[in-house]
Amino acid sequence: MSLARIFGIEIRLDFSVLIVFALVVYSLGAALFPRWHPTWDATLTWGTAFTAGVLFFASLLAHELAHSVVAKLRGIPVPRITLFVFGGVSELDREPDTPATEFLIAIVGPAMSALLGFVFSWLGAMLAGADFGVEVFKDPEAAMAHLGPAATLFLWLGPINFMLAVFNLVPGFPLDGGRVLRAILWGISGDLRSATQWASNMGRAFAWALMGFGVLQALGGSFVQGVWLLLIGWFLNNAARNSYVQLLVQQAFDELIVGNLMRTHFEVVDPDLTLEAFVNEFLLRSAQSAWPVIEDGKTVGLITFDDARVTSEDERATQTVRDVMSPIGERLSPDVGGRDALRALAESERDPLPVMRGEHIVGLLHRGDITRWLALHQLDAHQHQ
Ligand SMILES: [Zn+2]
Repeated sequence: MSLARIFGIEIRLDFSVLIVFALVVYSLGAALFPRWHPTWDATLTWGTAFTAGVLFFASLLAHELAHSVVAKLRGIPVPRITLFVFGGVSELDREPDTPATEFLIAIVGPAMSALLGFVFSWLGAMLAGADFGVEVFKDPEAAMAHLGPAATLFLWLGPINFMLAVFNLVPGFPLDGGRVLRAILWGISGDLRSATQWASNMGRAFAWALMGFGVLQALGGSFVQGVWLLLIGWFLNNAARNSYVQLLVQQAFDELIVGNLMRTHFEVVDPDLTLEAFVNEFLLRSAQSAWPVIEDGKTVGLITFDDARVTSEDERATQTVRDVMSPIGERLSPDVGGRDALRALAESERDPLPVMRGEHIVGLLHRGDITRWLALHQLDAHQHQ
């Protein structure tokens, strides 16, 4: 669900957020606020709970916006932020290319949460008055009961944001602290791969600790909390593992060129061939889906399954390949990098794209070839773990 656009970044809400929002509002409106303020009526209690829920998600959004804005300032485009059940994700177009950039992008999120924690706590303390600090130690219940709705709201949001900052600073991938750790190790050693492996392993260790703690809690009677921790741990463990594998694939992909990916085993056809002969001798006889048309050693066009399909059976007897073939048009060079080739294929309506060196066709590159290559490499990456 698309919500808004801030600084050119699309803000999206995953459906799962609504469930968490409902849970937060419910736990405040049904449990916490009635205990703090037994004298409040239902409208005030639920109104405050609802506002608190909205401000909580606004805080998460501010955290993600901090990441995204710094990323944009460092030259990395950020198309969108998605809020989902475990928090938010800023989708960066590419990974930071220096440790300093990664460090800045990572640290600014928890810094924003800490700042919000400070501002909300300060506002809450101002509204609560000077006596509150003394009173809360003598009789917390009575001290809380004296607070107005705004003070209650801010004194709940402040500590929550501090907790967000602390949780995100845990030095394990994919948490912000894990990125900070990776940036530091990367800066010291210059080795992105081993830095990522360390941060990823720390992340997995933390995830397992969280899951273990969740099981203990569930067995100890706090079933919902325990299961919740178990789910977060499971999610973090997967994310930590995937991020390392992804990096391995990406690094290998960066070194790759179209020349390594393209198909070089293919048939070519003559422009004067009748369509009937083309269909019977080429199209029906192989899995190839596009045939380069060669005349006097030069590539003059490309004929595809669709080009032949639009003709009727009568036409096929009289027409030739030249009559229906498409011009070469979009093309790739064999020296183009793997990532650029992927983008070109994704944006093009044609599949495969011809790979040309000058006027000569040297290969065909299908979208499926890249997927196939990635699948091969991912297997490889799993073995290295
Ligand atoms: Zn963050």
